[in-house]
Amino acid sequence: MKKEISNILLIYTGGTIGMIKDPESGTLKAFNFNELLSNIPELKLLDHNISTTSFEEPIDSSDMNIQHYINLVEIIENNYEEYDGFVVLHGSDTMSYTASVISFMFENLTKPIIFTGSQLPIGDLRTDAKENLITSIQLAGFKRNHHPLIQEVGLYFEYKLYRANRTTKINSEHFEAFESLNFPPLAESGVNLKINETNLLKSNRRKKVIVHKELSDDILIVKIFPGINRSTLEQLLGIKNLRGIILETFGSGNTKTDDWFIDLLKETINRGVHIINVTQCIGGSVEMGKYATSEKLKEIGVISGKDITTEAAVGKMMYLLAKNLGPNVFKTIFETSLRGEMN
Ligand code: ASP
Repeated sequence: MKKEISNILLIYTGGTIGMIKDPESGTLKAFNFNELLSNIPELKLLDHNISTTSFEEPIDSSDMNIQHYINLVEIIENNYEEYDGFVVLHGSDTMSYTASVISFMFENLTKPIIFTGSQLPIGDLRTDAKENLITSIQLAGFKRNHHPLIQEVGLYFEYKLYRANRTTKINSEHFEAFESLNFPPLAESGVNLKINETNLLKSNRRKKVIVHKELSDDILIVKIFPGINRSTLEQLLGIKNLRGIILETFGSGNTKTDDWFIDLLKETINRGVHIINVTQCIGGSVEMGKYATSEKLKEIGVISGKDITTEAAVGKMMYLLAKNLGPNVFKTIFETSLRGEMN
């Protein structure tokens, strides 16, 4: 592939990558973005033109909320025409959630938005931050015939680029912190950077990018477990203002079959709350009707999350709830892949 120079915008939102140890308390805190850059002189060796910007107050990703998602989308939207690609530095803890919801907020994306971060701060001798950052910039900068090769939201960590809305953080210690069990990597970094082009989303350049900036967070994740009790579940499902529930079920979408349980779900759906069936397993798919233990869920109108991750289901729910769709349209759209998030 012939090298073409790209304009890349590097956006720092916070996270370990740019943190230092507070000498008094010993805890990790975000520090100045310019200091972060002075720790990576290698950036100057890259062929691309790199500009940087930062959240006014960088945050630990555990503090992310829908307003931060909208702020991030606005930074990209305001710079969309000027840049060929975007690299978002983000805490790894909730990176899959943010990157997933951002993938829904951009329709007809024709440029890469690559999320990355690190397990060790960039100033640490053994840091994983430099490789993650430098390769992310290279991936965001790849072009063919003057157009970015990657035209979707990706997540790069420890030698692999994944479709962001397929990822889950699976390890809090290993450098290999993310997995995408239901979709193969988009690119792998070894001696050469290998892009698996057949896995990339194909965009239509004639369509204009549409930015969706309304989200709803009236959502609950309910992870069921054997022995879950009726009164607890009644309280949870009865919460006022609740509009969507991600029901994390067993295996291929199975739950208990007790009448009280099914009736409670049915009443909740009749109240206008959308319930999505997502498996607790980190790989595989929901198949309602495969076992008797999921047949009833299908009958009462529970929506199949198929092989979506919980993180992507939350993002898709936040995005779709804000559209105020009727129950049937919501179900049909949720069960359709919008950004490659499900098979
Ligand atoms: N707690 C940090 C965060 O998610 C962890 C990290 O950056 O990896 O912001």
